[in-house]
Amino acid sequence: MSHRRKLAAGNWKMNGLWADLAEVTKLMERHPDPGCEILICPPATLLSRMSDLTVDGAVVTGGQDCHAKLSGAHTGDISAPMLADAGAEHVILGHSERRADHGETDEDVRAKALTALDAGLKVVICVGETLVEREAQNTLEIIGGQLAGSIPDSVTGENMVVAYEPVWAIGTGKIPTLGQIGEVHDFIRARLEKRFGAGVGRSARILYGGSVKPGNAAEIFAVPNVDGALVGGASLKADDFSPIITALENSR
Ligand code: PEP
Repeated sequence: MSHRRKLAAGNWKMNGLWADLAEVTKLMERHPDPGCEILICPPATLLSRMSDLTVDGAVVTGGQDCHAKLSGAHTGDISAPMLADAGAEHVILGHSERRADHGETDEDVRAKALTALDAGLKVVICVGETLVEREAQNTLEIIGGQLAGSIPDSVTGENMVVAYEPVWAIGTGKIPTLGQIGEVHDFIRARLEKRFGAGVGRSARILYGGSVKPGNAAEIFAVPNVDGALVGGASLKADDFSPIITALENSR
């Protein structure tokens, strides 16, 4: 039995209106005392309301991104203190959609992470290879570079989570083989231990993300060093997210 508390994290991306908070209510009713942590990262417009809704429940909330600066002339952006002020406990950083759509680099992600940590947020740092990189057998090199570049030196095992999200598995219904997932998660664990020592390296959680569904969750959660999941599409409806949470609760 691992000492790391399992984490089921939902990334709602650019989805969700006020009425969709009913899904969170349903989820909390189904999991009043869950055997894992449940995190939902809604769009910024819903963060405050969702945080109020979940204040006495088992769900915690997070942002999907933040700016590297604390405040200022950055129209349309959101700062880490604003997320915390709205009730967020976590923030996802370096998601491949941010890296692709907004040109975010590892350096950007690291700068954002430093600001988020200063604001008291926990960071969920995403890494993952494209299909071209996997087919060229560069997966581990790419992941190693992203870990080295994106994670600040000051993290602890409690305030930093790594999400391994192969870009080609996000929203596609395709997932790597369990062997491929295990290889990357073992590699990430080893890199964290080497850089931060056994304390941080063994206590930081490593999530798998990319087309996790009720039908494949249990087998993914049985892979060593998989401490939970970052779930996109299947986190939007309680009927989909709930069985994934149950699979995580029942995992080793
Ligand atoms: C994600 O975007 O983080 C993700 C894993 O998406 P999906 O579960 O829809 O593949």
